[in-house]
Amino acid sequence: MKVTITDQCMGDRNCNELCPEIFEYDEDKLLSIVKMDVIPKHLEDVVRQAAKECGAEAIIIEE
Ligand code: SF4
Repeated sequence: MKVTITDQCMGDRNCNELCPEIFEYDEDKLLSIVKMDVIPKHLEDVVRQAAKECGAEAIIIEE
């Protein structure tokens, strides 16, 4: 699984709180970024949850 965040991110940091291993807030860009190229298996479900909960629909998953 791969994940990207589009510039639609509104910076509420919900994904950061759900899965800090993967998502991080970039204070310069003022949006969240993905810390890893490939998501480890054990974090896939929580990443899917973050994408589902993202109000801006900014988290794009490639299975
Ligand atoms: S949950 Fe969505 S809108 Fe909120 S910080 Fe993460 S990517 Fe951005």
